[in-house]
Amino acid sequence: MLRIGIDLGGTKIELMALDESGRMLLRRRRATPQGDYQGTVEAVAEMVEAVESEHAQRDSRVGVGIPGAESALDGRIKNANSTCLIGKTLRQDLEDRLQREIRLANDANCFTLSEAIDGAGHGAEVVFGVILGTGVGGGIVVHQRVLTGANRIAGEWGHNPLPRLEEENLMPPQCYCGRYGCIETWLSGPGICADHLRHGGQLLAAEEIAARASAGDPASDATLGRYERRLAKALAQVVNIIDPDVIVLGGGLSNIDRLYRTVPALWAMHVFSDMVHTRLLRNVHGDSSGVRGAAWLWNER
Ligand SMILES: [Zn+2]
Repeated sequence: MLRIGIDLGGTKIELMALDESGRMLLRRRRATPQGDYQGTVEAVAEMVEAVESEHAQRDSRVGVGIPGAESALDGRIKNANSTCLIGKTLRQDLEDRLQREIRLANDANCFTLSEAIDGAGHGAEVVFGVILGTGVGGGIVVHQRVLTGANRIAGEWGHNPLPRLEEENLMPPQCYCGRYGCIETWLSGPGICADHLRHGGQLLAAEEIAARASAGDPASDATLGRYERRLAKALAQVVNIIDPDVIVLGGGLSNIDRLYRTVPALWAMHVFSDMVHTRLLRNVHGDSSGVRGAAWLWNER
């Protein structure tokens, strides 16, 4: 029985197929039909059918990772930044089209599951996965199973307000979700860029700020310092609640090397404990984590 993982992103749809033993058979990708919901459902179904016909298989198990969540109320997609999915009954529509049960999960949950199974969190009981990218997402995996939660938002920490702003008198920025000062507005890629500008810096990409900081530019170094203090505060709250063995970082900002050194040194003062054993680790599977986790959705239960 094949297991097929689909990472349904705003710009591309990626597919990975695993054999019975969990070995990867193939990967492929195509562009996401822009602003076209029906076209997106059809594109996913066609990719699955193509793999099945090449392998003379039917009824493979399909898991789909999406940048959003399924409402526990009516199965409609919410919180998606690919807005053409919002309000759609994606799982039902894929099930109707492919005539089988489909497992659907938030992309941050897929990332965390993939890293918990055979990535940075391998062997850990409780793993908190964080995506620091265009947005900020989170997922919780306990004993290699995704914790979905009563409202299907377990781990959605990016839209909590950042605990205690810095000394400076900053107006919390408004988030796309309508709230002010969400963790995402500070810790996402656009968040760090905006913060650099706010403090008199140039408009630079996050990677450029990190590169300039390591080359000794004081303004970029200060921006990264603020970022680290905020990340430490925000993660300390997670540690106080679920006390994970491992926190794995993903997304573009997870490539900043110094975070793994500086943030654990800073979070200790905010965690309610005499010591912090939680390890902060970089992801192992990089951009593949979403599609791998989607395929692993059928590993559980
Ligand atoms: Zn928000």
